[in-house]
Amino acid sequence: MAQTDFIRMIIEEDLAADRHGGRVATRFPPEPNGYLHIGHAKSICLNFGIAGQYGGTCNLRFDDTNPSTEETEYVESIKDDVRWLGFEWNGQVRYASDYFEQLYEWAEKLIEKGVAYVDSLTAEEISEHRGRWNESGRESPYRDRPVEENLDLFRRMRAGEFEDGTHVLRAKIDMTSPNINLRDPVMYRIRHESHHRTGDDWCIYATYDWAHGQSDAIEGITHSICTLEFENHRPLYDWYVQALELEDPPHQFEFARLDISHTVLSKRRLLMLVNEGHVSGWDDPRMPTIVGLRRRGYTPEAIRNFCERIGVAKTNSIVDIKLLEFCQREDLEKRAPRVMGVLKPLKVVIENYPEDQVEEFEFPNHPDNPEMGTRMVPFSREIYIERDDFREEPPKKFYRLAPDREVRLRFAYMITCTDVIKDPDTGEVVELRCTYDPATKGGTAPDGRKVRGTLHWVSAAHALKAEVRLNDHLFTRENPNDVEEGKDFIDYLNPSSLEVLEDCRVEPSLADAEPGLPYQFERKGYFVVDSADSKPGKPVFNRTVSLRDSWAKIEQAQLQG
Ligand code: ATP
Ligand code: MG
Repeated sequence: MAQTDFIRMIIEEDLAADRHGGRVATRFPPEPNGYLHIGHAKSICLNFGIAGQYGGTCNLRFDDTNPSTEETEYVESIKDDVRWLGFEWNGQVRYASDYFEQLYEWAEKLIEKGVAYVDSLTAEEISEHRGRWNESGRESPYRDRPVEENLDLFRRMRAGEFEDGTHVLRAKIDMTSPNINLRDPVMYRIRHESHHRTGDDWCIYATYDWAHGQSDAIEGITHSICTLEFENHRPLYDWYVQALELEDPPHQFEFARLDISHTVLSKRRLLMLVNEGHVSGWDDPRMPTIVGLRRRGYTPEAIRNFCERIGVAKTNSIVDIKLLEFCQREDLEKRAPRVMGVLKPLKVVIENYPEDQVEEFEFPNHPDNPEMGTRMVPFSREIYIERDDFREEPPKKFYRLAPDREVRLRFAYMITCTDVIKDPDTGEVVELRCTYDPATKGGTAPDGRKVRGTLHWVSAAHALKAEVRLNDHLFTRENPNDVEEGKDFIDYLNPSSLEVLEDCRVEPSLADAEPGLPYQFERKGYFVVDSADSKPGKPVFNRTVSLRDSWAKIEQAQLQG
C-alpha cells in the first residue's frame, strides 16, 4: 500500500492543482559536519521516498556554507550511507558552495533594491539590538546607508579588505517583527578561512537561511522539507524568494524530527561521545549512526521499514527504541540462517559415546525456508552447552538440563545428566557427565517419551573459538536529552552497554562467515560478523538484537514475586 501522510497529501493537492507544472523535486541537504544518524534516515526515506512515489527527483546537496566544521571524510561517508539505505540521487552530487557566485550576485541585487545593507556593528551589538521574543529590536545606525555605499562596502568585503567581524550584510526587513528571524537577519559574515571545496576563493560566507532557500530555487526544488525547528524560519525563506522575484519558487514544509529512546540524535553530542572515547568511533555498534547500525547488523530494509512505520507527523515525540529492534528482528527472522553458537560454554562429556566417533547431523538453515538449504554439523563425545542451560537445583518451570534429567540436543540425541563436576576451591560447576540414548538419533525417542528441553550445542573438538560482543542501549535513561539539574547527558551512559565474551564457541560452518552477513544463533539472538575486528579463523560477532527470551521473562516475573 502506498504510504500517506500530511506532506504527501500536500503534494497530491499540488499535483492536482498543477502547481510547479506537475513537477515534484525534493532534496536531502546534510551539512557535512558529522556522520548521518537514524534521524537523517527518516528525512532520507521521506525525501527520496516521495520522489520515487510521485515520479519526481531527489537531489543530494551538501549544505557546506560553514567552512570551519566541514570535512571531506563526512562527505564520502554521507554518500555511502544514502546509497546503502537504497537510494540514488538525481544526477551529480550538489554543493551549496557551487552556488556561492550566484548567491553573491543575488545579494547585490537585494542591495540594489534597497532591501539589504552592510552593517558595521559588532556581533555583540547586533545581538543586543535584536531584542528578545517579548521585546522589540532596535535599528542599527548603519541601516540607512545609501545603496552605493553598501555596494562598495560589500564588494570590498568580498575582496578581503576587512577583518573578520568588522562588517556583515543584513536583509532590511523589520526590527519590530514578532518573529526574531525577520529582524534584519544576517546574510553574510566575513571569515578568512579556507573552505573544503572553494579553498581561499571566498572570505565571506552565506548564512544558512540565505543559502538554503536560494539553493533550493537554483535546483528547481518544489517541496523543501525540513524539521520543525525551522518553522519560524519559513517567513524568512519566503521573504528571500519573493524579494528576488524568482519564478516558480520552492516552498518549505516542516515535519517532526525523530527522537529515539535510550540514545541521542544530535551530531554535537554524538561527536562528543566519539571525541571523549565513550564509544570506539562513529561506527561503534552501539551508536545510532548509519555506520554504527550497519556494523551492528542492521539492514537497510529494516531501517526503511522502521521509518515507514513511525510515519511523518507534525508533533515531536520520542519513539521507543524497541520499535527499531522489532523491525530488525522481523527482517532477520526471514532471512538470517540459523546456526549454533554457545556464548558461555560448559563442557559436557557423554560417557557412553565412543571416544573417536564423529557423526554429522543435517540441520536446516532456516525452519520455514527450505530453499535456504541444509548443512552438516559434527557431533562427538565432548560438547559444549550453554552454562545457563544447566541448573543444579532447577527452579519451577526450568525445563533445561539438571541432575538426572533428560533433555534433547537439537537434531542429535537425548542425553541425561549423571554427574556434576565442580572446582574444588570455588564450587563452580566446570563440567557435566552425561549418557546418551543411541536410540534417539535425530532427537526423537522411538518409544515416544517426551522431554521438555531442547538445547543448542557444539562439538568441542570441532567448534571454532569466537569473540561475541553483546551490545545494549547506550543510555540507561529513556530520554538522555532531558538532563536533570547538575547533570550532563554523559552521566546517563549505560555502564553495561557492551559485554565482551571472549571465549565463545560456534559451529565450524562459521569458519568462513563473511563480515556483514546476519545469523541467528539459535535461542540466543541475531549476530553479525564484525567488519572491523574479525579475523579469519577468529571471528568476532556483534549481537544485533536479542530474541524475545521467554525464560528471561519467567525469571523476571518470579523475582518480582
Ligand atoms: P543535528 O541536529 O544532529 O546536528 P542537523 O539537522 O543539523 O542534525 P543536517 O545535516 O543539517 O543535520 O540535517 C540534514 C537533514 O536531515 C535536514 O533536512 C534535517 O532537517 C534532517 N534531520 C536532522 N536530524 C533529524 C532528525 N532527528 N529527524 C529527522 N530529520 C532530521
Ligand atoms: Mg542543520
